[in-house]
Formats: sequence, structure tokens, C-alpha cells
Amino acid sequence: MPAHIIDGKALSQAVRDQIAKDAAALLARTGIKPGLAAILVGDDPASHLYVKNKQKACEAVGIYVADHRLPASTSQDDLLALIDKVNRDPRIHGILVQLPLPKQIDSQVILNAVLPEKDADGFHPYNMGRLVEGTPIFEACTPRGVIKMIESTGVGIAGRREVVVGRRNIVGKPVALMLLHRHATVTICHSKTKDLPAVCREAEILVVAIGKPRFVTADMVREGAVVVDVGVNRTEDGKFVGDVDFEAVSRKAGWISPVPGGVGPMTIAMLLQNTLESAQRAAEKMKGR
Ligand code: NAP
Repeated sequence: MPAHIIDGKALSQAVRDQIAKDAAALLARTGIKPGLAAILVGDDPASHLYVKNKQKACEAVGIYVADHRLPASTSQDDLLALIDKVNRDPRIHGILVQLPLPKQIDSQVILNAVLPEKDADGFHPYNMGRLVEGTPIFEACTPRGVIKMIESTGVGIAGRREVVVGRRNIVGKPVALMLLHRHATVTICHSKTKDLPAVCREAEILVVAIGKPRFVTADMVREGAVVVDVGVNRTEDGKFVGDVDFEAVSRKAGWISPVPGGVGPMTIAMLLQNTLESAQRAAEKMKGR
């Protein structure tokens, strides 16, 4: 039997519909409209498209967007000055700095300058530390979306044998920590892992984030497994494919997420969710004063 599809598009629409209701309720109750500062430096067309999509998604659910576009020649000091300004702006509850940044700017310095309470992307070391501790405030958007997708299958996470392929800070590592906190037994794989296919075959739930087109083949997947494909790779004919060989693996897995239409839309939905929750916390704080 072919695998069930984990439809990231449909799932993200359901999340967005709920966010729109919650944002309207927050505005009616407190006068606070959730706000996101979107900061884009340079002319990278893909980054422009990502930011445009995120802005459209924000506006559709009633999140105010402060759009900051800076030239590729922007200095690190000028960008830090802008971050300082949006950190102090009470209308802003989430800050998105679109990566990559031009080479004269140290991305880590910039991400560290974002106030942890406004770090809607969840990349600040404080928020990473809270995640390690098991008390996260902001969870990074892509990993949070991956968890929601796994939860949507109804296949429980607790006690399952879980393999994450990829160990970087953006996806692999935070996904593994989030699964661990949900009581999965987690193995993290990377480029030095020996006999990767054998480790992957142990997985009842397999998350792949390596950036290699169709790398995970059917012989690496356990019968009936839940497979979440985070990879986004452009092929020579201009198509987008994941890190998983969808055609073959979907005949063996129990559940599989497609690319496109899988993790991508969920990442955007989680950015909206993080911004809304930040605004809700700000409203609580004001009430307490
Ligand atoms: P990355 O920084 O390039 O990291 C790749 C990871 O995969 C590393 O940990 C690397 O191991 C591991 N790896 C590479 N080749 C491997 C191999 N042959 N066997 C086992 N492990 C291998 O990538 P990333 O930022 O985590 O992103 C991964 C993919 O997800 C990319 O395609 C990216 O475009 C996509 N992505 C999608 C979204 C979305 O919203 N849909 C968001 C973020 C990222 P080492 O650590 O040993 O080098």
C-alpha cells in the first residue's frame, strides 16, 4: 500500500486559520496586533521570494509586518543599529533576519544581537540553550514544523525509535532535541556515520535534513516508517526535490512528506505561530504591570 502523505500545505493552512482567529482575539482583548520585523540585506532573488512569501502569510493572518530592505553594501554596524531599533520597538514581537547575509557581516553577531524575547526564528544561543534544557521559549520554525507534521500522523512519538539524519543547528540538532523531550529514543546521524542505511532502517520515524537530492533510498527505510523530508534541492531541470527518493520510498513507508508541499509551508506557519505567541506573552507581561 502506498504511504499516506503528510500534507504540509493543508496542515499549514489549518494552523494559519487558527492563528488568524487567535490574532483577532488578542487584538480585540488587548489592542495588541502581533508584529514581525522582516530584515533583508542584499539582492539574492531566493531570499527576496522567501521574505515576500513570509510577509504575505503574515498579512493574511493579521500580523503587522515592518519591512526593512537594505543594500548589499550595508555594514555590520548599520545592521546592528537597525536590530537595536526593532528590539526596542513595542509594535514588534518577532524579528526575522533573512539568511544568508553578505560576507562583510558576521551572521552570528547579528543573530546574537536579536533580543531573545523577539527571536521568532529561535536561533539565538539563549533560545538554543533553553531548548537543550527542555524549557524552550521559541522553538526554531523548521524543527517545530517537523514535530507538528509527525504529530499529525497520529503515530505517537514517545518511546519510538527515531533517527535524524543531519546534525546542524538549523534543523537536525533542534529536531533531535525536540523529539528527545517528547520521549523518543533518538539517534543523530551525519557525514561520518558508519553504515547509515542500517541505522536508518531502525527508524520508526525518520527525519532527513542533509541537502542531497534523493539521497535516502527505499532500502534505507523500514517498512511502515514515518518519513519527514526536510531537504530542498534544485535539480538541473529547475525542479525542487527533497533528500528522499519520494517515488520509491512512498511504496515502503507508512507516511511520507512531499517536496514541495511538505516542510516548507510548515516552516512559514511556525514563524507566524512564534510571532503570535510572542505577542501573547507581551500582552500578559503588560497586564502584570
Ligand atoms: P547543512 O547545514 O548543509 O547540513 C547538512 C547535514 O547533513 C550535516 O550535518 C552533514 O553532516 C549531513 N550530511 C551531509 N552529507 C551526508 C551524508 N552523506 N550522510 C549523512 N549525513 C550527511 O544543511 P541544513 O541547513 O541542516 O539543511 C539541510 C537541508 O534542509 C537543505 O536541503 C536545506 O535546504 C533544507 N532546509 C529546508 C527548510 C525548509 O523550510 N523546508 C529549512 C531549513 C533547511 P556533517 O555535520 O558531518 O557535515
